Amino acid sequence: MDYFPVFLDLKQRTCLIVGGGDIATRKGRLLARAGARLRIVAPSVSDELVQLAEQNGGQVHWREYATADLDGCVLAIAATDIETLNQQVSDEAQARYLPVNVVDSPALCTYITPAIVDRSPLVIAISSGGEAPVLARMVRAKLETLIPATYGRLAQLASRWRERVKSAFVEADRRRFWERIFQGPVAELMFSGREQEAEQLLGDTLAAPDAVDRRGEVALIGGGPGDPELLTLKALRLMQQADVVLYDRLVSPEVMELVRRDADRIYVGKRRSDHAMPQQNINELLVELAQEGKRVVRLKGGDPFIFGRGGEEIELLASHRIPFQVVPGITAASGCAAYAGIPLTHRDHAQSVRFITGHLKDGQPNVSWPELAMPGQTLVFYMGLVGLSEICQALVEHGRAPGTPVALVEKGTTRDQRVLIGDLATISDLVAANDVHGPTLLIVGEVVTLHGQLNWFVSDRKHAQIVAGEE
Ligand code: SAH
Repeated sequence: MDYFPVFLDLKQRTCLIVGGGDIATRKGRLLARAGARLRIVAPSVSDELVQLAEQNGGQVHWREYATADLDGCVLAIAATDIETLNQQVSDEAQARYLPVNVVDSPALCTYITPAIVDRSPLVIAISSGGEAPVLARMVRAKLETLIPATYGRLAQLASRWRERVKSAFVEADRRRFWERIFQGPVAELMFSGREQEAEQLLGDTLAAPDAVDRRGEVALIGGGPGDPELLTLKALRLMQQADVVLYDRLVSPEVMELVRRDADRIYVGKRRSDHAMPQQNINELLVELAQEGKRVVRLKGGDPFIFGRGGEEIELLASHRIPFQVVPGITAASGCAAYAGIPLTHRDHAQSVRFITGHLKDGQPNVSWPELAMPGQTLVFYMGLVGLSEICQALVEHGRAPGTPVALVEKGTTRDQRVLIGDLATISDLVAANDVHGPTLLIVGEVVTLHGQLNWFVSDRKHAQIVAGEE
């Protein structure tokens, strides 16, 4: 270990910054966050730095540096582009045994500033000892994504209860108690903003640790349209904590890869005709597993509240008073549109967009055709492959121009994505000729013309773009 990490208490203590440019400002921002009183010395100083100094009762001196500027300081930073000046500040600070940092000159520093993940009061400092700062910053970025923003509030909650917990347990039990708080329902309640309930549950757990021991919970999670990178950070975190995951056909294998290795996986199906498990049984299974004290993840394709029956699955949980949360996902319309280069709205072409189910009821999609046939809107049909020709026909019959552009996106956002482009009159034949399999999404409207220009995503499919009338 080349450097010894410490955390300095700088509140109301004077820190000297020599320099007033961008780098000095960046340093000043950090010091001010820690409550330091800034003494800025430089002939010219950025407005922000002046503000930061005033904020905590510091001072700005618009002049050259003088040795006496170090008087009363607990720390010094030189951030000028004059090497001799930086050297002088470093020498004089060291003569007084003051910690000193000269930006980008390790040889002149007695300390270095780490990369920081700030979830105050929880603060993580990362350093490569100046050897590979970019690597340190990458580690930082990883940690930023892994540690929820609300960890700070969780730490504050812990601090409020610290003394009470300390007097209730001997050390080993205390550690186990806190682990349960930080990884269990109390933490999840905090993350969903239900602070009072979290506080209540923490109190209950402390009063009767065994009584509330095994409380399960369910997270209804949107797994997005296929590309695993489209998962939210929250989805990923909960998938990594799950005891058991219920998933269906639309959840891509790449997304399932990211589930915790030791979690049980239960396939609950949902092909059009092969319902691997009836909806009612899924609802009941969720309740059962949660009552066993499991952390249950119900993982669905796209967004759980868009044609996902997500509502039905949590109604039963709610009536059993089982804690649950809902994590939105990128719905197929957003994912497919983005990856096909088709903006769903556009100032010139579409002022609104509708998501419609193409699932036929008694052979007919159960929707208001005259409304859908109006121009100036984009229509997105989910589950529209089987009823494709009926849909196109009905739109034309109700007045939408037969030449209205249509895109059919197959397996959108995945390595197998394919986009078929035609219009209301031609798309059915194009699909029939090209051996299309689900899942597919139908986008109808003038915005589809932008595909030619904005298409950016390249999948592994041989003919990833098929346009009607072109060979
Ligand atoms: N809850 C999901 C939709 C479930 S309905 C969501 O928000 O996306 C199932 C329909 O979604 C499929 O029939 C298909 O129309 C569409 N769909 C889902 N994933 C898709 C994908 N990767 N590419 C194209 N369509 C998709």
